[in-house]
Amino acid sequence: MFHFRFILEPYISQKNRYQCPSCGKNSVFTRYVDQEKKEYVAENVGKCNREQKCGYHLSPKEYFDNQITLQGNQVDTDWAGAKKPLIDFCKPKKTNLASSFIESRHLLNSLKHNSDNNFLLFLEKMTNKETVSHVKEKYKIGTSKKWKGATIFWQIDNRGKIRTGKMMLYNKVTGKKNKINWVHSVLRLDDFNLNQCLFGLHLLNSDKNKAIALVESEKTAVIASIAFPQFIWMATGGLMNLKKDMILPLANRKVILYPDAGCYDIWSKKVADLPKNIQFIFSDLLERKATAEEKTEGWDIADYVLGVWGDKV
Ligand SMILES: [Zn+2]
Repeated sequence: MFHFRFILEPYISQKNRYQCPSCGKNSVFTRYVDQEKKEYVAENVGKCNREQKCGYHLSPKEYFDNQITLQGNQVDTDWAGAKKPLIDFCKPKKTNLASSFIESRHLLNSLKHNSDNNFLLFLEKMTNKETVSHVKEKYKIGTSKKWKGATIFWQIDNRGKIRTGKMMLYNKVTGKKNKINWVHSVLRLDDFNLNQCLFGLHLLNSDKNKAIALVESEKTAVIASIAFPQFIWMATGGLMNLKKDMILPLANRKVILYPDAGCYDIWSKKVADLPKNIQFIFSDLLERKATAEEKTEGWDIADYVLGVWGDKV
């Protein structure tokens, strides 16, 4: 049985907890083990223990279904229920291919129904209807039917092309995240060449005088954009996305970075390798303000904004 063959590796020590492929934090990632072969599944197959702040979880089933193979990692498993021929699993990851895009009708459809979008309902409770309708229109926040109440954060580039959408289910009372999936994955598009862009990149030229403010999570970008409209807020969607390809469109702009509490050092190291034609300014606000406990929990600017809003309601 599939579920018994692959398990999350039991904790032994910090040595068998790895760097998360999504948020980039060290010692937080638990990998799946193939009990039959006594070996790990691919290095991106596992679960991040920062459930609220990151939420990355790629199960062996999703991995094999989506044929996400890391270069050079030969997968020859014969797990029960595999319908695809083995050769598909062994295809090397495609590189240097033109980006694939999602048809805009999917985005337009997702904007039609929002009466049961948990994230927007949560935001409405913290602010008001008018604010939410404005921010929904600005970021094209969609609603997915995949799970009742799920939100779609579309990744629309600076040319208006849709790279993909990240589907997230939030609790409408607490605003905490429960589940994640991807539009390109749910649509089961053949030969889709995923090339992510920053969430909010479509707003790049909405005001050329405004600085860009960059955070890790989409939810944070949306909330901060309401509280601090003097910046154009964008999100990397995961610390591993703080890299050249994603940042390139920001050339010649001023970019203020807002690392989550406790992540300042990881961001500084990454930024050192980024192109020099972007003027990066670090906000050390959270690093200075956060308590040791808030740093461990990885508080971000939205947690503070919500704290202030929460006191008002
Ligand atoms: Zn993570």
